[in-house]
Amino acid sequence: MVNSTPYIGRFAPSPSGPLHFGSLIAALGSFLRARSMKGQWLLRIEDIDPPREIVGASSQILSTLEAYGLHWDNSVLYQSQRLEIYQRQINQLLTSDNAYYCQCTRKEIKAMGGSYDGRCGRLAQPHKVGAIRIRNRYGVAKFRDQIKGIIEVDSQFAAEDFIIKRSDGLYAYQLAVVLDDIHQQITEVVRGSDLLEPTCRQESLFKVLKQPSPDWLHLPLACAEKGRKLSKQNHAAAIDVLKPQASINAALRFLGQAEVSTEAQVSKMLEQAINQFDLSKVPRRSEILLVP
Ligand code: GLU
Repeated sequence: MVNSTPYIGRFAPSPSGPLHFGSLIAALGSFLRARSMKGQWLLRIEDIDPPREIVGASSQILSTLEAYGLHWDNSVLYQSQRLEIYQRQINQLLTSDNAYYCQCTRKEIKAMGGSYDGRCGRLAQPHKVGAIRIRNRYGVAKFRDQIKGIIEVDSQFAAEDFIIKRSDGLYAYQLAVVLDDIHQQITEVVRGSDLLEPTCRQESLFKVLKQPSPDWLHLPLACAEKGRKLSKQNHAAAIDVLKPQASINAALRFLGQAEVSTEAQVSKMLEQAINQFDLSKVPRRSEILLVP
């Protein structure tokens, strides 16, 4: 094809614990999609929430990916090294009246019905400290997912002026993820279905920033029970670094893909998995229960 944009995908784990089967799905799914599109696969460590981080988790994630043959392109991007850039962007958003300070408490927001009504953004004398909210002019309520089709979210949720910097000074995931997807020129985001709803907020931010948004592809989530995804918070077991072969085939099955022959070298297994990757076989469901 002439003039086609080269594919750039990514895996963006938060270092709140070691990789478990649920995060392997996102890592392997995004890797196979990128490589089958002959694209790049970038790695970004989303370490902007120190209270939720586990010491040593970042380097453990990197060495697990290596052991699984999931080699990334370029150097790893650490969000903790981009705080000045996030702040600069926030300053611009404040100056251009696309963001404002908010001092409402959780209790006050609850009294508004749970969804923030934008009152601090209408003050004649705006606050000068507090959390910072985006003025959500676009309120994107639907987007197209590459495997699920059109996704529509609750209109109140979509229209809310959401937080981009918390009152404790931490930058919000929504802001950092969008700025970094722009910075890394990501053409398609492949991740778990727990991030389906927030995608609308991210779409709104891309619009405020006047940047094209990437394509979206949300993989099913591995759940231990209905509505409860495997996560570092519920202590999902770390995947075995010494025997990646079995986990790779289990993850392929989960993603609806044919298994590959179990080779001593994981790189050979992945090569076969890339060659036979078939997006149309990835389940559209948002959750799949794991049978123990
Ligand atoms: N850092 C997020 C997580 O570990 C994923 C962010 C994303 O893929 O957009 O859940």
